[in-house]
Amino acid sequence: WIWGAGAAFVALLLIITCVSIISQWRHRQKIIAMQQTFISTVSHELRTPLTVILGALNMLHSGIGGTLDKDVKRLIAVANDNGKRLKLLIDDILDIEKLESGQLTFKWQSVPLKSLVEEAVDINQPYAENFAVSLVLAPQASTPPDTNDALTQPLESSDCVEVDPERFAQVMANLISNACKHSLQGAQVVVGTRRVDNHWLEVSVTDKGNGIPWSFQPRVFERFAQADGSDKRRTGGTGLGLAITKALVEEMRGTIGFHSIPHEGSCFWVRLPKDKKHS
Ligand code: ADP
Repeated sequence: WIWGAGAAFVALLLIITCVSIISQWRHRQKIIAMQQTFISTVSHELRTPLTVILGALNMLHSGIGGTLDKDVKRLIAVANDNGKRLKLLIDDILDIEKLESGQLTFKWQSVPLKSLVEEAVDINQPYAENFAVSLVLAPQASTPPDTNDALTQPLESSDCVEVDPERFAQVMANLISNACKHSLQGAQVVVGTRRVDNHWLEVSVTDKGNGIPWSFQPRVFERFAQADGSDKRRTGGTGLGLAITKALVEEMRGTIGFHSIPHEGSCFWVRLPKDKKHS
């Protein structure tokens, strides 16, 4: 009877394990369904009317309803700016939810990193001009300050990475906009590239801005984290940009890091595996 009792005990354990696995799986499915509902609700119920409101405000501001009083124009501009901030926040929340629930689709392509980076520098020029910052491409292979790779080589035009070009552009826009936002007027933001030990291709964005306080550095990639979260801060933003950037880079099988010295500046770098099919 001891053997019989033992077998019954094992069978009971198996049943309990199966039931627990099934209930965990059901719970996970429920969370995924809730995330999907959240994403579609946010998209349709918040983003769509907000886009319409912003369009209407823009038309009013441009004088479609007749010439406007100076004060009315100023109020419309305030509403427009805050509407844009709200839209930015909604877009960022949507991106991070989609990334976490695996709903963000990637259109993979093998593309030369050099051309992607040059394009990003061109596209972000007007943004840099808004901050009176000069955005330049480093002429040679550039080594971020805290790395000491003896195997640094310049990037060849044919060095490819497998990425979604639009998502890569989003990564570059986030890093460049952060560098510009935290630089003083007239400063330079340098975008560099290099090949590291023949397996990795790297792009870095270096500024000589206000740097990141030591105490805040461990939290830089956390959601909603901002060194200065006060309403009086000079720069806008949601504190989600770097969390999204890190998730996008990791989705593209890359790594991201930074080196920053308070009051001296920061350098953010992204490394992506070199696409060997095209070498
Ligand atoms: P935000 O929307 O605030 O820009 P991010 O996630 O992009 O959010 O960045 C988080 C915080 O990290 C910023 O609020 C800022 O405090 C700090 N940070 C990011 N990049 C830089 C930089 N290049 N120089 C100084 N601080 C930076």
